[in-house]
Amino acid sequence: MDTYDILIVGAGPAGTCAALRLLSLGYRVAMAEREPFPRPQIGESLSPGIRNIFDYLGAAALLQEDYCLHQLPAQVIWQTQHAEMQPRGHGVMTDRSRLDKALLDLAVANGLVLYQPAKYEHSSYDGTHWQVHVRSTAGALTLSATFLLDARGRKGIRQHQRWQTAPPMVGVWGYTSADNMPGATCVEAVPDGWLWGSPLYDGRYRILAFTDHQFVRQPSILSHFHQLLHASQLFRPAGQFSSLQSCNVFSYVHREPWHHNRIQLGEAAFAIDPLSSTGVEKAMRMSLQAVIAIHTIFQKNTPAIAQEFFESRLAASVASHMRWTSQYYADAWPANTHPFWKTRAVLPFSGQAVSPFTAKVEHSLATYHPPVSSPHKKINIQDTLQQLWHKKLCLSPALSFKQTLCVVNDCVEKKTAIYHPNLEQEMAFLGNHDILPLIQIAQQSDTFGQLILSWKQLVPADMAVPMVLQLWDKQLLCER
Ligand SMILES: Cc1cc2nc3c(=O)[nH]c(=O)nc-3n(C[C@H](O)[C@H](O)[C@H](O)COP(=O)(O)OP(=O)(O)OC[C@H]3O[C@@H](n4cnc5c(N)ncnc54)[C@H](O)[C@@H]3O)c2cc1C
Repeated sequence: MDTYDILIVGAGPAGTCAALRLLSLGYRVAMAEREPFPRPQIGESLSPGIRNIFDYLGAAALLQEDYCLHQLPAQVIWQTQHAEMQPRGHGVMTDRSRLDKALLDLAVANGLVLYQPAKYEHSSYDGTHWQVHVRSTAGALTLSATFLLDARGRKGIRQHQRWQTAPPMVGVWGYTSADNMPGATCVEAVPDGWLWGSPLYDGRYRILAFTDHQFVRQPSILSHFHQLLHASQLFRPAGQFSSLQSCNVFSYVHREPWHHNRIQLGEAAFAIDPLSSTGVEKAMRMSLQAVIAIHTIFQKNTPAIAQEFFESRLAASVASHMRWTSQYYADAWPANTHPFWKTRAVLPFSGQAVSPFTAKVEHSLATYHPPVSSPHKKINIQDTLQQLWHKKLCLSPALSFKQTLCVVNDCVEKKTAIYHPNLEQEMAFLGNHDILPLIQIAQQSDTFGQLILSWKQLVPADMAVPMVLQLWDKQLLCER
C-alpha cells in the first residue's frame, strides 16, 4: 500500500491549489482524479483576487496563456433598467478545462503523485491514517494518508450533509457568435432571474441564465431560456444558440467540513451563489487555509487550534458571502415586486443550527455589524504631525483586547489582538509588528510626539509616523 502525508481527491482548482502549496512546504502528496484531462468544466469567469493566488503558487504564467481574456469592459443592468457601462475589470475569462489541466501539470512537475483516471470509491479511518480505495483502469487500489482532502466538487457532498444557504436555482447556458453581442461582459436582472454573458477566447459568446427551479420543466428549458433572453435588453440580439445545457445550482455549506483529519475543500465544502463569480477564488483561498491548518498540525501538533482556524475562516467567508449576495439581490430593480428576487433578498437565517459548524456560520451572521466608519480625513502628514506632536494622547475607551488566531510562518498561533468598533476585524499586527507591545507603549506615552519617538525604537523609523496616524485616523488613539 502506498502511504502519503496527504491524499487529495479531485483535481479542480481547490485540489490542485492545495497540492501545489503542500508540495512547496515539502510534503509527500498524492491525488486521485477520476476524469482524464482536459475535461469540460463550468465556471470560467475568474475574479481579480485570483491573480494574487496564482502568483503565490508560482502559476502566474498560466493566466497569460492564449485561453485567457483580460480587461473586458462590462455592461450592467441591475439597480435600474438602464444600461451602465463599467470600466475594464481586472478579472480573467478563461477556458477552465485547459486552465485546470495546466495547473495539474504544474503540480505533477512539482512532485505530485497523480492517479488518473482513478475514481474514489470509499475510505476508512484507523485512528491515525485514512485508507482510501480508488478504482483506476488498472484495477482497485488502496492508498493510505495522514490527511484526506476531499476536493471532489459537488460530487463530494451528499444531500444530507448540506446546509442550504440560499434558495436553489437552475442555470441554463448556450453559445452564440461573439459577432452578435458587444465585446463586453454583460449582466442583467430580468423579472424571473438574471443573465450573464461574456466573449470567449475562441470567438464564441457564452450566455448563462439563472432562474428559479419552479419556472423550468425539462422539456421547456429551451423556451424558458428564450423567454429570459426576450425579457432582457442586452441579450435580446443574441441570435442562434448551440450546445444548450443546464444544471441545478445549489448554495450550501457542509455540516461537518473537518472530521478526523478528513477536510472538505472547494465545492465539496461549500458552494456559493454564482452572482459574485468568486467560486474559484474562494475555493482556492479555502484550500490555502486548509494547508496552513495541516502544516500547523505536522509542525506544532496543535490540532484543536488548527481546526478552529480552518472552521472559523470558512464560517466567516460563507457568512460574508451570504450577506453580500442577499444585499446584491435586494439592490436589483425587480427586488420588491418579483418572487425570484424577494426570496433571495433576505438572509435564510433560521437561528436553528444543525451542527456545531453551522452554528459558527449562524453566529457569524448574527453578530456581524458593519464597522462604524470614522469621518474621512484627508491627511497631510506634515501638517497633522505638527498639529498633533505636543497633544496629550489616550487610548479610545471603546478599545478592547481579544485572543485571536493568526498565521505566523505558515502556522496558526494564538495572539492577543485589539478590537474596536471602527475596525472591520480584530488587529493583531500593525505594519507586520505585533500590536500588543506597541499598544502598551501607547498606554504609557504622554503625547503623540513621545509615542512616535518610542515606536521608532521598535519599528523601522520611517514607519512610526504612518502607523501612529493610522490608529489616530481610526480613532483608536485619541486626543486627551
Ligand atoms: C452554473 C455555474 C456557474 C459558475 N460560474 C462561475 C464563475 O463564473 N466563476 C467562478 O469563479 N465560479 C463559478 N462557479 C463555481 C465554480 O465552478 C466552482 O467554484 C469551482 O469549479 C469549484 O472547484 P472545485 O475544485 O471545488 O471543484 P471542481 O472544479 O468541480 O473539481 C472537482 C474534481 O473532482 C473530480 N471528482 C469528482 N468525483 C470524483 C471521484 N469520485 N474520484 C476522483 N475524482 C473525482 C472531478 O472530476 C473534478 O475534476 C459556477 C458554478 C456553477 C454551478
